[in-house]
Amino acid sequence: MHEMSLAMGLLREIERQLKPYGPEARATRVFLEVGGLRAVFPEAMQLCFRAASQGTVAEGAELVIDEIVPRGRCVGCGREREIDHTYFLCPDCDLPVKLLAGEELLLRSIEIEEPDPKGDK
Ligand SMILES: [Zn+2]
Repeated sequence: MHEMSLAMGLLREIERQLKPYGPEARATRVFLEVGGLRAVFPEAMQLCFRAASQGTVAEGAELVIDEIVPRGRCVGCGREREIDHTYFLCPDCDLPVKLLAGEELLLRSIEIEEPDPKGDK
């Protein structure tokens, strides 16, 4: 299941981005863009994220996955179209379709909960 290694990489990136906010900062929501060609199953990604985030700054954070529909442009007619894994030839001119979107795996934003500056705990 490659979602687990993706989730681990994602968590490393989250920890890196939260570092400037201090040791008490926590991620509460994580927004991820995933291209349709990455063959990432959202349910599996959620499970792996939850498991991998135990004991990290993102423990208990909500993972919001935005799936990007793969698109490409035909090198012949220049027409843009949605594509899937098996379909990289333009049905009109039988020429290759150049990929424009669909391979993303992008940490778009993180919602962070910072500690109370007064520090009463
Ligand atoms: Zn074409």
